[in-house]
Order: sequence, then structure tokens, then C-alpha cells
Amino acid sequence: MRFSFASLAHNAMTYHQDWPRQWRSPTPKNHYDVIIIGGGGHGLATAYYLAKNHGVRKVAVLEKGWIGGGNTGRNTTIVRSNYLWDDAAHLYEKSLQLYEGLSKDLNYNIMLSQRGVLNLAHSLQDVRDTKRRVNANKLNGIDAEWLDAEAVRAFCPIIRTDKKARYPVLGASLQKRAGTARHDAVAWGYARAADMRGVDIIQNCEVTGITRQGDRVTGVETNRGTITAHKIGICTAGHSSVLAEMAGFAVPITSHPLQAMVSEPIKPVLDTVVMSNAVHVYVSQSDKGELVLGAGIDAYQSYAQRGSFHVVELQISALLELFPIFSRLKLMRMWGGIVDTTPDACPIISTTPVKNLYLNAGWGTGGFKAIPGSGFVFAHTIANEAPHALNAAFTLDRFSTGHLIDEHGAAGVAH
Ligand SMILES: Cc1cc2nc3c(=O)[nH]c(=O)nc-3n(C[C@H](O)[C@H](O)[C@H](O)COP(=O)(O)OP(=O)(O)OC[C@H]3O[C@@H](n4cnc5c(N)ncnc54)[C@H](O)[C@@H]3O)c2cc1C
Repeated sequence: MRFSFASLAHNAMTYHQDWPRQWRSPTPKNHYDVIIIGGGGHGLATAYYLAKNHGVRKVAVLEKGWIGGGNTGRNTTIVRSNYLWDDAAHLYEKSLQLYEGLSKDLNYNIMLSQRGVLNLAHSLQDVRDTKRRVNANKLNGIDAEWLDAEAVRAFCPIIRTDKKARYPVLGASLQKRAGTARHDAVAWGYARAADMRGVDIIQNCEVTGITRQGDRVTGVETNRGTITAHKIGICTAGHSSVLAEMAGFAVPITSHPLQAMVSEPIKPVLDTVVMSNAVHVYVSQSDKGELVLGAGIDAYQSYAQRGSFHVVELQISALLELFPIFSRLKLMRMWGGIVDTTPDACPIISTTPVKNLYLNAGWGTGGFKAIPGSGFVFAHTIANEAPHALNAAFTLDRFSTGHLIDEHGAAGVAH
């Protein structure tokens, strides 16, 4: 059933008892044309575009838990495209453009809120780097502005901008089209739209092995039996190296916890997203009124998706450097996700050494904003057995050829 004013009115008459389930819960078939491993945003978007743009008929998404239960449902929901290097900027800009039309495309309100993202500059070097990024963005046709300290104060009056601050605000970049989107809705919207096109979304189905015949992939072993497939795409974020090992190759990915937290809900007070790499905090206010705060990655590697106390202390002190106004707020809850980091802070969307096996990984701390664009180009790569122009640079072999796209220290460090 499509969501519309008519369907809402109709269901209101029956006390909302007759809404159908948003997607089926099918039994796995023995064989698929394409299996996508991982039911996060990237896996679900890939399945959707495989069905929609490439007419692939038999597609399954295998998810070991519940869809969106990984990083997709744990992130701080910032979307933006103001990356420094051309390859990254073009890919993230494509994604932002798809986000702008996504609620209509999926017939699902993803609650995109283009409230702007400020990246604060606190030192002369920050100012130079930020202005350079603003200019690079403009050359790539991406909206970006430089705000001096006074303009920052006018745009977001509750930021501490006085000169006595330990980290004085000297200015900021502003991308007005950037903002936030509702993370669950992105996963659910893609799931529902993919299901409507015949994609089987199979939850509680853990892939435990990847089978090969010679140099070609043939299927997967799961806790629900063996399933064969012509092609397989891996979209498992923090578990990418585990899946690659199952297929017999190594990836330059390390998995770290990344933590976030929310305050108690308060009345609307912050109508933009503020990020500071120097103080290291990024903050926005959710539609429920909570302040949503994100940290940097934990220094150690782990698969434990939980928060820890030392990060609370760091995050709250970083927040209060910029926003003394929040000093009496209470923290409500915190959590962690496992992010897949690469040496150049850029993703891998690529063929692999195993034929018909494709990898979409390495999004690290910033892949929520990339979900539509990543799904779009990964579906293209799987369907055509060759990359789309937008992901041609994001190969796995760049780590041996040296063609890195280094967003570390530029735009890849924050979300
Ligand atoms: C705290 C935090 C804050 C963040 N903030 C932002 C932000 O503000 N903006 C932004 O752009 N990005 C942000 N990110 C990053 C972003 O969340 C991720 O890059 C993105 O969600 C990755 O999506 P995904 O679909 O690749 O992975 P996931 O959503 O993690 O999905 C992968 C799925 O694979 C499944 N899986 C793993 N192994 C198997 C297996 N063997 N068999 C079957 N299924 C398996 C998992 O259960 C999981 O559901 C943040 C991340 C975190 C943790």
C-alpha cells in the first residue's frame, strides 16, 4: 500500500488496524541472482537500486540481526557533501542529491532536515584549511560559504564566540543544504521500497561462510542453510574484514567502536548542526528535542557495541567548551557502533580478487550520508561488473597502487 492522504484517511476510519506489514518476512530461497550480505542502509539501498535501476529480479538481503540494527540505526544522522577531494566530493554530492528526492522516490518520509552544517575553525591553520575546503567545494559545484566569527554568532547565537574562550571561534564553513535525516526511516524506507520490487529481506540470517569454486564465488553458508547465488555483495561495515576472510582475501580495514549519546529532551534551542574537529564534538537537536552528540573513534579495536565512561567525560567537556548554555542538561543514554576505517578515510566500492564477489565497506565514521549514493553506484558495479564513474576511484587495489584519496585531516575525520 502506498502512503498517501487517501490511505491515511482510509486507515483512520478503521482505527489504523488494517495497515499491512511494511515488508514481507520470506523464507530464504535456494538460489538468488544477487545476494547482499548486511541489512544496513548500504545493503538495503543497493538491493533497491539493483531491482529498480537494473531490473535484477531475484535479490536477497541477508541480515544477521534486524535491519538497521548496525551503524545505520546508531549514528548521529548528519548528512553533508562538503568533502575536499574531487572523487569524494562528487560521490557524496550525488548522495545528497538523492537524499533530496528520497522521500518522494521511496514514498516514505525520511525526515530530511536541511538545517545547515557548520564546521568551526579555531586556529589560523583551521581557518586556512576550512577556506581551502570551501573553495574546493565551490569549484565542484557544491554549496559552501565561509562565515567569519560575527557571522557565526548571527547564525547560531548560542555558540560561545567570545575571544576569551579556550578554543576561540575564528569562523566556520557552512553548507546550507546539509543537515540531518531520520536514520531508521532511511533503512525502513529502502526496505519497504525494495520489498515492493520483489527483494527478499531475510532477517536473523547470519552468513557463516562464503563458498567458492576456484576463483569464483558460488554462494553462502548461513544459520538457515546454504544459499547459492550468481553474484554476492558484502555490505557489513564493522564486520567487513570478517566476511572478506571467509572469502579468502584480506582488506585494509580496522574496526573500532564509535560512540554517541543523547541528552534529555528540551525545547528547540539549536536549529543547525555544529561540528568542531579541534574540540571534537558534533551536535544537533533531534525532532524529539534531545541533543545528539557524537565522539571520535575509540583508540582500541573492538566489536563491542557499547558506550564507555571516559568518552562521556571527553564529549561533555568538548560540548561545554562551545555551549556553556548546556551545562545543566542531563545525559539520557549512550551507545556504540563498530565502524570500518580505512587508511585514507575513504570507502571501498569495488570488485574483489574473487570473481562475482563485490565489496562495499570502509565508510568508517561517515557513511550514513552516503547511503543513497553508495547503493546507487554499488548496484551499478554489481549489475555491470564494472564501476560507475562515481566510484571508479574507490577500488580495493588503491592500497597497493598508492592512488589514495586522502580525506584524513580534511573532511573524513568528522561526520
Ligand atoms: C555513533 C556513530 C555515529 C555516526 N554518525 C554519523 C553521521 O552523523 N553521519 C554519517 O554520515 N555517518 C555516521 N556514522 C557512520 C554510519 O553510521 C555508517 O557509515 C553507516 O551507517 C554504515 O552503514 P552500513 O549499511 O554499511 O552498515 P550497518 O548499518 O552497520 O549494517 C551492516 C549490517 O551487516 C550485518 N552483518 C554483519 N555481519 C553479518 C553476517 N555475517 N551475516 C549477515 N549480516 C551481517 C550487521 O548486523 C549490520 O546490520 C556514524 C556511526 C556511528 C557508530
